[in-house]
Amino acid sequence: PYEGPPKEEVYALRKKFLSPALFHHFKDPIMITEGKMQYLFDERGRRYLDAFAGIVTVSVGHCHPKVVSAVQQQSALLQHTTTIYLNNQITEYAKELTDRLPGNLKVAYFVNSGSEANDMALMMARLYSGNYDVLALRNCYHGMSEGTMGVTAHSTWKFNVPQGFGIRHVLNPNPYTGNFGNDGAKYAEDVRDVISTCTPGGVAGFIAETIQGVGGSVPLADGYLPAVYDMVREAGGLCIADEVQTGFGRTGTNYWGFQNQAVVPDIVTMAKGIGNGLPLAAVVTTPEVAQVLAQRLHFNTYGGNPVCCAGGRAVLRVVDEDGIQANAAKVGNLLLERLHALKEKHDVIGDVRGQGLMLGVEMVKDRASKQPATAETAQVMERLRELGVLIGKGGLRGNVFRIKPPMCLTTADAEFLTEAFDLALSEL
Ligand code: PMP
Repeated sequence: PYEGPPKEEVYALRKKFLSPALFHHFKDPIMITEGKMQYLFDERGRRYLDAFAGIVTVSVGHCHPKVVSAVQQQSALLQHTTTIYLNNQITEYAKELTDRLPGNLKVAYFVNSGSEANDMALMMARLYSGNYDVLALRNCYHGMSEGTMGVTAHSTWKFNVPQGFGIRHVLNPNPYTGNFGNDGAKYAEDVRDVISTCTPGGVAGFIAETIQGVGGSVPLADGYLPAVYDMVREAGGLCIADEVQTGFGRTGTNYWGFQNQAVVPDIVTMAKGIGNGLPLAAVVTTPEVAQVLAQRLHFNTYGGNPVCCAGGRAVLRVVDEDGIQANAAKVGNLLLERLHALKEKHDVIGDVRGQGLMLGVEMVKDRASKQPATAETAQVMERLRELGVLIGKGGLRGNVFRIKPPMCLTTADAEFLTEAFDLALSEL
């Protein structure tokens, strides 16, 4: 049982000593003191089904015993030296990680967060291409560093400071609200137009999540990436896939989200699920692109430390051994089926979307106007918490439920989640 200070005291300390910008979900903030696989426990020992996985980070389960044990063992052996000495953990990890990528994506850099990974990817694209301009999608989220905040296209996260540069935001190929429905090739024409009108003709690269996460689990319209990758490469740029949320089997059908659109990027960035909660992130690229960083020294103190690498290796093993990708497909399909049935029953649901365990439910005031049902979303979210389900929320207007649980979710959990959802929606 939990033996720390009471929740009220923790909350008071947080308000006094932590950033005033910290936000919390729920009117009465929830305190979590333990996690076990797909479940979280509050300070009173009450159990919740975790449908958001620490914002899509706990990939294989809270405190998965194999990850815990790998981290414990390595912690007792060697915690830190940096890459100025050789160590087996980082090299074996780089091999094991790149073994899981297609094509010539064979060189890995380890960093500590998704923002760092994306900053690095952008720098490599600029160095490699000799161009500045980077194309990104509206409604994307790529991080909070100065560079990645500039790439991010969500006013909620854009502070009024100089940020990024040379970023061109193109039309978001959103099949639900976009003008061209699910026709990716039509949205791609905007990329051609932006390259020819807003840039000197050459671009450094194009970056996109393969299903937008923070933006509300928005998939890219069919055929979008193949068309855009061709245009970007013609303009001398590199194609960057941000797999921070979509990698490691989450979409069920493939290990990486980009494979769902049958493309192979030049750079892949990873964070969150790669470490199951450890501060670990990576950039993987080809030997040819990686060569640009040899122009200078490049260094990261904590990147690739043996403890995080041991944990990351354990995550890879667990994804294989526990059949994580197949489970994401099976349970994800069941959830999709149940959520579509809820859509038939509840008019407030405008759209059910996503793949595997990367799902979204967009709430609307009416289906014709698609006006966001923001208050209703907040109300259902509160009710779900009372019923023992912690769900995620997203979208610029806070009207999309994000269902992205640890990928060990069972079919029984999925049934429980949808029954609770049904009840909460019925009470609106
Ligand atoms: N890319 C995507 C797709 C993300 O969802 C996030 C985090 N929400 C980031 C990058 C940034 O990661 P971090 O918070 O680790 O910097």
